[in-house]
Amino acid sequence: MAKAKVGKKATGVAMELPECPVCFETMSAPIFQCQSGHSLCNSCTKNLCPSICPMCRQAMTQMRNLTLEDIIAKANVPCPNKSFGCVYTMVTQEVDDHLKECIFRVMTCPLGAVFGKCSWTGNLKEIMNHFKERHPQNCNVNMETGVELSNVSIHEDERFLYLIQQGNLLFIVTMKIDTLQKVVYWVVQHIGSKKTAQQHIYEIHITSKQDPRRQVIFTDHCYNDTLSADAVYRLGKCGILPLEMFSHFILNKKISFKAVIKRGAPKPKKFDKSKNSNENKQPNASKNTNPKTGNAQRHKSPGPAVLKK
Ligand SMILES: [Zn+2]
Ligand SMILES: [Zn+2]
Ligand SMILES: [Zn+2]
Ligand SMILES: [Zn+2]
Repeated sequence: MAKAKVGKKATGVAMELPECPVCFETMSAPIFQCQSGHSLCNSCTKNLCPSICPMCRQAMTQMRNLTLEDIIAKANVPCPNKSFGCVYTMVTQEVDDHLKECIFRVMTCPLGAVFGKCSWTGNLKEIMNHFKERHPQNCNVNMETGVELSNVSIHEDERFLYLIQQGNLLFIVTMKIDTLQKVVYWVVQHIGSKKTAQQHIYEIHITSKQDPRRQVIFTDHCYNDTLSADAVYRLGKCGILPLEMFSHFILNKKISFKAVIKRGAPKPKKFDKSKNSNENKQPNASKNTNPKTGNAQRHKSPGPAVLKK
């Protein structure tokens, strides 16, 4: 077969995958052949009645074209969102996972999902502009200096959501007062790939308005947005403060907190075990692309969700 055309991971060159001659869909396993060797996709083969090859009128067989199936499985295919601008190519089996975090996928407004008040859909490049236009109070904040929330009560469920742009990356900071569970949650999620999310850690600083000496700092790695904030809360892998404790941070129904997001050590277990543990202990050591991890990521990760202006 035309081996040279098959995409090499290193270069990201993608081949045009063979199409079924009947339905013109891209072939995927299982692929069946007729007696003279024409290959048809599974659903077209099943739909033939009688079971005769539409190309040559020979009988179809149960013989699979394993070579072609193998080539397709190993071929780099372009992202289905290529026409929207995604240049990422991947092995066929990785397409479904990539689509969940592809930055060119159609997204819904995070405030719509949480508050049900916005029906906007669009892509990552447009989301910040959408926030600036429609939800300015949810994006025009400097999380590093802190945000002050008013009308906060430990007796009422409440949610807060902020869209934060840091460099070229977007993050969502959420906080939820849950009177049923009697806790307050905080989590920072990156809109984009899991890998980029795990390369970032966040700190939530909550300082008491009643007594500045009282402070809580929570640190964790970021999640990406394939999980909802509620799902992260349920997992408990987020900042959590009992309401009783939280009440000492409120003064005149006001509370302040700040969120600091920085590039940090990735989640150790997901990464090369042979690496020495010192690297993981130095959050700032990997500020620039580590050639080792950088290369490793290129295979599977669509890379950071870079916003181009
Ligand atoms: Zn077909
Ligand atoms: Zn045939
Ligand atoms: Zn994509
Ligand atoms: Zn919206």
